Amino acid sequence: MTIRHHPGDEVLLELAAGRLSAGPALLASVHAEMCPRCRERLRALEAAGGVLMESLPAQTLRPDALARTLEAVDALKASRESSALPVAAAPSARPAWPEGAPWPQALEGCRFTPWKWIGPGMWWSRMAPQRDAAANVFLLRIAPGRSLPAHTHKGLEWTQVLHGAFHDGHDLFGPGDFDSADGGVHHQPVVQGQSDCICLAAVDGRLLFDGRLARFVGALAGM
Ligand SMILES: [Zn+2]
Repeated sequence: MTIRHHPGDEVLLELAAGRLSAGPALLASVHAEMCPRCRERLRALEAAGGVLMESLPAQTLRPDALARTLEAVDALKASRESSALPVAAAPSARPAWPEGAPWPQALEGCRFTPWKWIGPGMWWSRMAPQRDAAANVFLLRIAPGRSLPAHTHKGLEWTQVLHGAFHDGHDLFGPGDFDSADGGVHHQPVVQGQSDCICLAAVDGRLLFDGRLARFVGALAGM
């Protein structure tokens, strides 16, 4: 299936500049990994950023710019080196995964809880990105024909489809598709097709489910 829903260029630009927080950065990275179009754009933006830095007259740079750049390079190297360790040592850090579903490279080094039941045909796995273990990022696994209870959220919610497909009442989202919803959007995605739908999601703030049972489930799951 062709990827039809992409993050905006402003998201890719923020990612290239290293300005996204851990959760959103992880989602955008996973998208770029799955989407040749965005991978290409990201590469171009990163190259453009490098050219921009080189073309700046030296006097416009802060005196400590070189030291800060070197610090950033060291931090990047350190995070890459440490990201090589945990997953190889602890393969159980990955929740049970359907055969044939891709496991994004960008998730290597993150830690996951096993799937937890949150309702009929619904499971979630809380994850801790390496960069910020407290980031509000999780995997959702929803069975065919099921939907997440209707919910709103105060901040931004980003969703990246890893496996399967859902329909949000307006449009179909399949493997590789990216969706962002602003606070206040009321949506109830329904899973399409014969296989479970697995999404990576990042939210700012708590999800607020409608209805007493859904609120109870949300509270139990710590969402
Ligand atoms: Zn894309």
